Amino acid sequence: MTQWLSSQRGAPSTGDDELRMIPRWSMALAIVLFAGIQYIFHGVMPHHKHEMIPLRLIMGYTWGALFASYALLLGYVSRDVKRRGMSAGLWMLVCVVLPGGIGAVVYFMLRQPILSRCPNCSTEIADSYHFCPQCQFQMAPVCGVCHRGVRITDVYCTQCGHDVAEDNAPARLRAYSD
Ligand SMILES: [Zn+2]
Ligand SMILES: [Zn+2]
Repeated sequence: MTQWLSSQRGAPSTGDDELRMIPRWSMALAIVLFAGIQYIFHGVMPHHKHEMIPLRLIMGYTWGALFASYALLLGYVSRDVKRRGMSAGLWMLVCVVLPGGIGAVVYFMLRQPILSRCPNCSTEIADSYHFCPQCQFQMAPVCGVCHRGVRITDVYCTQCGHDVAEDNAPARLRAYSD
């Protein structure tokens, strides 16, 4: 027998969740990089032209912000790969080696969907699955006749016209269609 489980599926991640994806080490690295860039622009570079100070401030801030955000991006990628079951080492390398953030762009284009775990048998499951491939645990509502995915607000299947309410879905789902 299969169970209905929509409430436990990963809710769409909010901005807060995404921020929590940035590990401490990358925040620290971002601060160090920003401070380092300021030091290079204001401490190491020659100071004899005073009229250059505004330009120096802007350049220092821009480069500092650029390197700092790159460190945060690396931190994000390092955690993001794990929840997608991708190779962390490979993608960190790609992001570091390909210059100017191109590696990160490639990563965001090629990354796999976020994996969740089957609550019944802990198999890793992509967001698009309706059933667990190992134990048939039902992850999302489907039509009882053609087994294509339906929205929980649908009264009839959009593919075959079957009355979805006849499938003995839980009361919570039937409430939407009544
Ligand atoms: Zn399972
Ligand atoms: Zn159907």
